[in-house]
Amino acid sequence: MLVVLRLGHRPSRDQRVTTHVALTARALGADAVWVSTEDESLEKTISGVVERFGGKFNIKTGVNWRNAIKAWKGEVVHLTMYGESLSKALPTIKSKDLMIVVGAEKVPREVYDLAGRNISVGNQPHSEVAALAIFLDRYMRGKSLEKNIRGRLTIVPNPRGKTVIDRSKGKAR
Ligand code: SAM
Repeated sequence: MLVVLRLGHRPSRDQRVTTHVALTARALGADAVWVSTEDESLEKTISGVVERFGGKFNIKTGVNWRNAIKAWKGEVVHLTMYGESLSKALPTIKSKDLMIVVGAEKVPREVYDLAGRNISVGNQPHSEVAALAIFLDRYMRGKSLEKNIRGRLTIVPNPRGKTVIDRSKGKAR
């Protein structure tokens, strides 16, 4: 089980970035995203993508992050530019049940202590979306993008136009 825990989501300001965190988590092989603030509209957006493009990805908002981290049975990895280096840390992550924590604005000090690992994706400030994508890609040894998620809509790679198969209509459009 691979869960991404998104901290500090402010519905009025972070809607777009948190949507991207969730979509990135789904596209790169996570099973769920848990968001610390309740946001029905975000849930609808992500559930809509799952309904169209498939997979079992799940979103939960209004999650108490402190309890969620404490209750997690596997390893907890907090992505932060201050952490230990990704390449050194990766080979030591053994658990199949992984919680990956990403922040928005300032991450509370307590998170650094509660997380089993604080891991940096380089030591420059960038973005939770970039950090998550690189982490998942490396964690899955570059295989995460090759996973075939079967859904009502399937995109067929096309060097120029757009080819989308809609199974409910049974033909490409
Ligand atoms: N300065 C804030 C702090 O750490 O308290 C973080 C702001 S940053 C825009 C938002 C999130 O992006 C961070 O919480 C972290 O999860 C992620 N992030 C940004 N740069 C990172 C890096 N170099 N390595 C790992 N994660 C990073």
